[in-house]
This record gives sequence, structure tokens and C-alpha cells, in this order.
Amino acid sequence: MSCSSSSGSDDEDEGFDAYRKGGYHAVRIGDQFSGGRYIAQRKLGWGQFSTVWLAYDTHTSNYVALKIQKSAQHFSQAALHEIELLQAAADGDPANTKCVVRLIDDFKHAGPNGQHLCMVLEFLGDSLLRLIKYNRYKAMELNKVREICKCILTGLDYLHRELGMIHSDLKPENILLCSTIDAAKDPIRSGLTPILEKPEGNQNGATTMNLIEKKLKRRARRAVAKISGRRVSIVGLSETPTKTVRSLDGIDMKCKVVDFGNACWADNKFAEEIQTRQYRAPEVILQSGYSFSVDMWSFACTAFELATGDMLFAPKDGNGYGEDEDHLALMMELLGKIPRKIAIGGAKSKDYFDRHGDLKRIRRLKYWPLDRLLTDKYKLQEAEAQEFAEFLCPILSFEPEKRPSAQQCLQHPWLNLRAQNNEDHIEGQMSNLQIKG
Ligand code: ADP
Ligand code: MG
Repeated sequence: MSCSSSSGSDDEDEGFDAYRKGGYHAVRIGDQFSGGRYIAQRKLGWGQFSTVWLAYDTHTSNYVALKIQKSAQHFSQAALHEIELLQAAADGDPANTKCVVRLIDDFKHAGPNGQHLCMVLEFLGDSLLRLIKYNRYKAMELNKVREICKCILTGLDYLHRELGMIHSDLKPENILLCSTIDAAKDPIRSGLTPILEKPEGNQNGATTMNLIEKKLKRRARRAVAKISGRRVSIVGLSETPTKTVRSLDGIDMKCKVVDFGNACWADNKFAEEIQTRQYRAPEVILQSGYSFSVDMWSFACTAFELATGDMLFAPKDGNGYGEDEDHLALMMELLGKIPRKIAIGGAKSKDYFDRHGDLKRIRRLKYWPLDRLLTDKYKLQEAEAQEFAEFLCPILSFEPEKRPSAQQCLQHPWLNLRAQNNEDHIEGQMSNLQIKG
């Protein structure tokens, strides 16, 4: 329940299977919520627990995001918990400057699939996962990465230090830009006239119907491509092979942390297995107990992904070993051996490590440290790679207490470095300025 599925599902739809009793609520454009106050305009996104809609608030004449939770009891309980945490975050930040999504309202909505808890949130833009895809999984300019990192760290510092909250599922999908990448998708910037009534002739336009149609169309396109012998990727059926690099200039990189469905108070944790696989900290895999620093680990994974377009760790199970063991092996190939004390200290350590602190099934590791990876594979300049690695490596410490806090990271000089290719500003700055955990 608290452990999110693998990342990267952003482009796919939520599927129609979960539109049943206990599942999602099917929404039509023009549907009214909370006694007519909110009117659905279009779908913004979805997650394992909910679908999220752009809605028009007729009381304030503003656009908002309406998160409609699945209706089964455990989803409702999770939503109540999420509302409690979001409310606390809103109460502690009246000026709304702490880079955490703002809860505006909440209510219940009865539908054919049950009773759904709904959250009204400030309307934000695309997720960082969409930004990464928009950038075609290419490296992003480090200055832009820095801007994003500052916002995420501001959010984490607020959650951790001021509220005592652990997010537990930080990843690109759960961090949203404050504005949309495409101005035409922003109802205000594009001057959209709100839909106040159901469009005529849209009686069979329910979400489930659209999803079935989309799926059929996708299948048809695949079949045509197969017959005509064209090589097509599953994600990008309509993509041509000659894609140029997209410019991110003009996109505002300000962003906020969202999705508190798995968040918890640090002194009242309710789950052992947290975080989405690729962003999961080693102490969670080993079940050695965790705290705020699990979010810092996920933050470092996210920062790397923004800078390179690739996930830092993408473990897979293999011949004779599972995903967890591969994950630990990947970590050690990048960061060196896990100190024996840590390796053997968790409830699940015995599943993966022998008593010397060596992995049981994966014996041969190829060490490829982060600075070398950044230069060799991602073609960063020597100095840039060095600086970025000096920022990230302490956050990826195997010893959770040694990881710098969000507050400490915000002081790190890497965040205030200027453009690359200008060597004046970087010379010698970083060599002796590592964060002390
Ligand atoms: P879940 O708990 O089901 O994972 P999320 O809170 O992560 O739900 O929301 C699912 C998706 O909906 C997000 O990835 C994003 O695309 C979209 N979304 C969520 N909140 C907002 C918002 N405030 N503004 C715009 N889009 C949003
Ligand atoms: Mg989510």
C-alpha cells in the first residue's frame, strides 16, 4: 500500500480495469462536484490511487486541480491521511513559498463506483518526468538542474525540519513544475473560457470509453506498423527517428513537491517498505529503519536523472538473483562497498549478504564511480562532473546519518555555481567545500 509501483508510467493511461467498484470515478467534461462548486475541464494526470482533473472553481473563478481518489476503504483511509498532512503543510506556510503543493479544499463525492474522497489542490504544471520526456531523455543544462534542485530542497527542508514529515515517495513524477511546459495547456495563459456545462452530444464521452478507444487505436497503429515492416518503439509510435534536441529555454523551472499519499510523520511511521523502486534507499531494502534521509537519497537519484536523462539505478532481477540484490550491486558499483556494519545490520541483510558483507549471489562488481560515469558516459566536462559528484556523493552515503540534510544541501556551493563553459568561476571552488554530514 505504501510502496509505489515502478516509475515511468506517465505516458500510458490509467487503464479501464480500475474503473469499477472501489476503483476510479469516471469523469465527464462538465461534471459538477461539491454541490456544483467545481466543474471538470480535462484530465491532468493519474496515479495508482487517483485521477486528477483540471476543474473550474465557480466560487473563486480560478482553475484548480481536483484529485479524485479511488473509493475502496483503504484508498479513502490513505486520502484522509494525505489530507491531514497536506493541511498541516498548508497551515505552516501561509505565504505559500515552501515549494509544497497547496491544499485548497476537500470533500466526498458519491458515484457509481462508491464514495470518493476528493482533494482540491492549486493547479500546477507538468511533472519533472514529463519534462525529462519532453527533453527526449537528453542531459539537461546544469543551471536548470540547479534551479529545480533548490526548489525540491526548499520543500524537503520545510517538510523535514519544520513539520517532521517524511515524503517517502520522492521521484520526478511527484514533483510538478509550477507552470506548464506548453503555454497552450495553461488555462490562464491560453485564455481558455471555462466549460460550465456538459458539452452537447458527449453522452458517451466517459473516461472509460475514451480509454477503450485509445487502446484500440494504439493496437491498430501497431498492427499497421507491423504489416508495413516499420520499426517502431512502443512509447513513440508517432515519433520519427530524426528528432532534434528541444530547447528548454523559456520554461520556468520553479517546482513543488506533490503526492503525499505515502508521506508520514517521522515519529509515526506505518510502513517498512516505502519509496518507488528506483528511488529507494539502501536502508529500506535492508529494513534497517529509516528517517528523513530516505528522501535525500531519492532527491539525489532525481537530480542525477534530470542532469543525464537516465535513472541513476534501474535494477532488474537476473539469473539466480532478485531485483533487491541487483539494486544493492548497482549501488556498490557506483559508490563502493557498503560498510560491513551497514550491510549486515538490517532485518533482510541475511537474504543478500554473507557474514563478511559480500553479496551472496552477485560476486563480481565493476566499480564505476560517479565522477567518471559523468565524464565517460554522459560527456560532462571534467570540472563539472567533479563538482556535481561532490554535491551528490555525500547525499548517497550508505550511512543514513552521514547524509547531509536538505538544509545543509541548500548551503552547498554547487547550487550557486553559474553556467558551464565558464571556467573562471569554478576553479578551485569546490575542492575543499564538501558538505559535512
Ligand atoms: P497518486 O497519489 O494517485 O499518485 P498524484 O498526487 O501523484 O496521485 O497525482 C497524479 C498525477 O496527477 C501527477 O503525476 C500529475 O500529473 C497530476 N497532478 C497531481 N496534482 C496536480 C496539480 N496540483 N496540478 C496539476 N497536475 C497535478
Ligand atoms: Mg503519484
